[in-house]
Amino acid sequence: MDEFELIRRYFARDAQASDVIVGIGDDGAVLELAPGIQQVQVIDTMVEGVHFPSDMAAADVGYRVVAVNLSDIAAMGAKPRWMTLALTLADQDESWVDQFAAGLFDAAREYDVELVGGDTTSGKVIVATVHMTGVVEEGAALLRSGANVGDTVFVTGTVGDAAAGLALLRDGEREEYLQRRFLRPRARVAKGRELIGQASAAIDLSDGLVGDLRKLLDASGVGADIDIECIPTSETLRQRFTAEEALEFALTGGDDYELLFTGPADIDIDDATPIGMVTAGTDLRCRLNGELVEVNDAGYRHFA
Ligand code: ADP
Ligand code: MG
Repeated sequence: MDEFELIRRYFARDAQASDVIVGIGDDGAVLELAPGIQQVQVIDTMVEGVHFPSDMAAADVGYRVVAVNLSDIAAMGAKPRWMTLALTLADQDESWVDQFAAGLFDAAREYDVELVGGDTTSGKVIVATVHMTGVVEEGAALLRSGANVGDTVFVTGTVGDAAAGLALLRDGEREEYLQRRFLRPRARVAKGRELIGQASAAIDLSDGLVGDLRKLLDASGVGADIDIECIPTSETLRQRFTAEEALEFALTGGDDYELLFTGPADIDIDDATPIGMVTAGTDLRCRLNGELVEVNDAGYRHFA
């Protein structure tokens, strides 16, 4: 059973209070505090050895745990406001905590979000969890579920860089730009705000383009035709890796924290690239230079 099946089976519930506008299943929950006042809540955990290597600089761990939450806030079109931090330490010295806090507050300052509480414990590995709350205009939140047949599928920035950066870190190699994209992800908060009223659906790319696109399509009850060669990749990624490797990172590598969204073909958003169309049915069909290829979370292969 994967994590999504586990969530569906044990945690997702139908019955919801009327002030829960969007519950489990999107990048964040949308809650109505009073008529006209809505907030978005998200939470994300980073576990040492699972989400980040043990030798990652403490400042980067602190920055990143804030950024990944900001990304879910961005995917909902909300404005980040407050966060709490649950931190489990495993014998880290004070300088580690000092650096972690410095990175955390760098991100907080950059995106104007305030730390208002938390919990500190000790355990076997470092676990950092941030819970973040944002605000959004009534009815304006961007959902995964709004994609319409005929919409164009877009992705912001470039994808594949962070996974490539992580792979190079693991191999003990240096590549400043790609590694920075993993260590210091930028959350697309301003872009999310811009998408309100323009995009029909949105999701942030945390697990990889194919897997996250599938989640958006499932939530919307639609399919898509994607032209793989249109997926935007950075020049650095293309220079450092073979075309095939670059494509693999772009399709399945996670941690880019770009936004994937759907909307009219002539939508007015810069730094967003059209990569395909929303279709009727539920199939996700991918073409590479016109030829149908099979793509799944683990990568792609040509139809035999
Ligand atoms: P994201 O990657 O955007 O954080 P996921 O796709 O991982 O979101 O999670 C899918 C949905 O399941 C989200 O709405 C998330 O809030 C919810 N979720 C995940 N774990 C739990 C849990 N243990 N209990 C309730 N809801 C959960
Ligand atoms: Mg998300």
